[in-house]
Amino acid sequence: MSARLVLLGAPGAGKGTQAARLSERLGVPAISTGDIFRANIKGGTELGRLAQSYTDKGELVPDSVTNDMVRARLAEADTAEGFLLDGYPRNTAQVAELDVILGEHGVALDGAVELTADPEIVTARLLKRAEIEGRVDDTEDVIRTRLAVYAEQTAPVAGLYAERNALVAVDGIGELDEVTERLVAAIAPLVG
Ligand code: ADP
Repeated sequence: MSARLVLLGAPGAGKGTQAARLSERLGVPAISTGDIFRANIKGGTELGRLAQSYTDKGELVPDSVTNDMVRARLAEADTAEGFLLDGYPRNTAQVAELDVILGEHGVALDGAVELTADPEIVTARLLKRAEIEGRVDDTEDVIRTRLAVYAEQTAPVAGLYAERNALVAVDGIGELDEVTERLVAAIAPLVG
């Protein structure tokens, strides 16, 4: 069965962890734009250098850069039966571009899943992760910017998918396994 899905949720809502689990369940790759940027920053590529000036501040990398990167990733063979996008689309212009990219492949999105979490809980999680992983964009100031960018630019993305009747919301608070099961149950009608 194919599955073409977008996973939405505030920074710290647990998207990355759950995307990896869902990817296994659904048999499609999880594609995280944040991870791709971080890999490029680490590898010292030109894309990495460009992205870092934005990711360090918690701001969005320009759409032209991000869209090209996603277009290239979705042209790879492992996405033939689908994908789970984590961190894209992150604004309404990226929603439109994703439609174009999928149209180029003659496919369409099955839907979007929003992982919801209380802002105070996600802020606490991000600060804790900062201690453990040492991600440079997990300082208090940058976290505040990332949450503000999410509220202003990414929250409307969920609204757009809701208008298309293609959005399901899942409570992201709870045990990891519990949240995974909730997600699997919520996704079933979208991909079935
Ligand atoms: P989080 O969701 O925890 O904030 P991510 O790992 O998804 O973190 O993203 C880290 C950073 O990468 C973002 O703050 C942003 O600078 C950049 N980024 C990731 N995805 C996108 C995107 N779709 N458009 C623009 N910038 C992005």
